[in-house]
Formats: sequence, structure tokens, C-alpha cells
Amino acid sequence: MSVEDEDFEERAESSNLDDAMNEPAETLIGSDKTSADYYFDSYSHFGIHEEMLKDTVRTKTYQDVIYQNTFLFKNKIVLDVGAGTGILSLFCAKAGAKHVYAVECSLMADMAKEIVQANGFSDVITVLKGKVEDIVLPVSHVDIIVSEWMGYFLLFENMLDTVLYARDKWLIKDGIVLPDRASLYLTAIEDAEYKEDRIEFWNNVYGFDMSCIKKQSMMEPLVDTVDQNQIVTNCKLLKTMDISKMSSGDASFTAPFKLLAEHDDYIHALVAYFDVAFTKCHKMTGFSTGPKSRATHWKQTVLYLEEVLTICKGEALVGSMTVAPNTTNPRDVDIMLKYSLNGQRCQVSRTQHYKMR
Ligand code: SAH
Repeated sequence: MSVEDEDFEERAESSNLDDAMNEPAETLIGSDKTSADYYFDSYSHFGIHEEMLKDTVRTKTYQDVIYQNTFLFKNKIVLDVGAGTGILSLFCAKAGAKHVYAVECSLMADMAKEIVQANGFSDVITVLKGKVEDIVLPVSHVDIIVSEWMGYFLLFENMLDTVLYARDKWLIKDGIVLPDRASLYLTAIEDAEYKEDRIEFWNNVYGFDMSCIKKQSMMEPLVDTVDQNQIVTNCKLLKTMDISKMSSGDASFTAPFKLLAEHDDYIHALVAYFDVAFTKCHKMTGFSTGPKSRATHWKQTVLYLEEVLTICKGEALVGSMTVAPNTTNPRDVDIMLKYSLNGQRCQVSRTQHYKMR
């Protein structure tokens, strides 16, 4: 899942969310919308679900995992965390699950109920409208948790916490979480043209200096597709998370990296992307959102560097990335990047801060 980050209205909504979160609770109770509504509203519209369903890398992988591993589902109780249209629940029901509980807090839950009925699965799938954290599940335990919780930069929107909550509350010992592994990677790219367009643009806008905005635009990682020809260095695994074992705190971390230049080039940005894996399948399955893989709606996440690095083949860009949910709005992600290059043509050592919001 991922809300459409570039959409202006989405940004307006998230700033409403910030405002709402700062309001005292009494005000929220009186109004017809709570801070949670603002976030979940975006999933009430079919457009986001259409985008996710049409992301065939995403949806087809889940379908393959479920249909090609029916031995996992036969006579099992499944919990679908954040069911949306109910697509994953339908896959599980068709694969022979005994019962599927599809929990969805947006208005799409009403559609999911209709969809389940229209497809003749009302006996097998129960749609529960509400937040996973609030609903009462009619059973005390489930055998399998399936969820598509990943956000931009993997962790944006922080829905992982909801999956971990459900796992700790309802999953039987030795139960299965699908997917059960998620990894974050980093590489470096040449991106002169786009950096000029996005960042340097503010230096001279119709003859006026608007460079104060440049600082803000540098701080917001850009969700966009990177061409694999732009890649300058190797790709480095930053962090792997085992969803069946990890705790919520493990999503905050500092990871070192060493990126080796594969040819002489300029580096304008670092690029982060993730992959997920379903390791409990008969044959390990998963997908990557990296620039060398088929594009997904998650694209990649580009973090621009303050200055252009001139790197020679074999030289190393070393540093660390610190990732943590924002303390005031845990759905946002704070990123701190430390990097240094001690090369023949360029010596740089810097710390930069970014905010995914
Ligand atoms: N499983 C669907 C939808 C994935 S998007 C699919 O694969 O197409 C994630 C969904 O989770 C959204 O519809 C969102 O509204 C829902 N969601 C997010 N947090 C939730 C929570 N805490 N409780 C219930 N639903 C949640």
C-alpha cells in the first residue's frame, strides 16, 4: 500500500492530520472527523485501490504466493490486516482457507463486504470494519496473517506497527506472517538533470531568489522512478526485518554503508528501495522495488545531496543512515544521512536530515 505522495490534495490532508493531532482530544470528539479519519480517508477512495491492484508486480506476487502454496492455507484461519477491497482475503479463500477475517478501517470496508458477497465467499470471509487496534475478533487465535502494509521507503505510514500488533495479539505460536521479510537497500545515482529541475530551480525563479525554499525541498525525499543507467555505485543492504520476530522498535535503526563507485561519475543523490520476501513458501518468492526491477507504484526514494560528488571508479562513499518514526507524527519518517568521500578529486564529509511526509 502507499498513498499517492505527489498528489497535492494528499499533502493538504496530511497537514490537516498534523493540525488535528495537535488539537486537544475534546475538540476531536466533538467534530465529525478524528485525526485517524484524515489518514484513513485516502483509502476510502477507489483510486488508491485501483493503483495498487493494477500494480501487477505487487498483486500478482501475493496471488502467486497464495495460489502456489495452498498447503499453507488448507483449513487455516487467516487474518487480513488492512484488507482494502478484500483482494488478499479472496485469494486466501480461493486457496482453501477455513475462514478469513478481513479487517479494514476505511469506507472501502463496505465495498469489500459487497465484493465478498458478489463472489460467493460470504461463508468464508468476514469483513470487519474498524481499526485492527480496536476491533473485536470473533476468534482468539489465527494461523496466518496476510498484509500489504509497505509504504514508500518501506516505512512511511508506519502500518508495520499494526501488523506487529495483530501478530502479538492473535497469531498462534509458529503461525505465519505473509510477507515475513522486508529489506531496505541504498545506492548512489547521477541525477544532474532532475536535481537542477527540482532543487536548483529555486535559485532563480523568473529572476528572483527563492533559494530559501530549496532547503525545504532538499529535506523531502522524492518518490520517483530512477533509470538503472543512472546508478554509479553498487547497492548495499541497509537493514533486514523479520516480520515474524521483530519488535516495533526494530524499525528505528542506524545502518552503516560503503558504496563503491563502478565507474568515474558524479553523484547527486542516494536512492533507497526495498524488497519483500515470503520465505515460508515451497519456493521462496518475493519482489523488489529497486531500479533494476520492474517498476512498482512504490517507485524509489531519492535523497538529494547538498553538493555534487565527483567520484572515481573504485572509490568508496562511506557513511550511515539513521531511520526513525517522527516523534510527533509516527506515520512520518525522519532520516539522518552521514556520508564522506575521501577521493582523488573530491573530499566531502557531511550530515543531512530528511523527512518523509
Ligand atoms: N490489502 C489490500 C489493501 C492494502 S492498502 C490490497 O492488497 O490491495 C492497506 C489498507 O490497510 C488500506 O486500505 C488502509 O485503509 C488499511 N489500514 C491501514 N491501517 C489500518 C488499521 N490500523 N486497521 C485497519 N485497516 C488499516
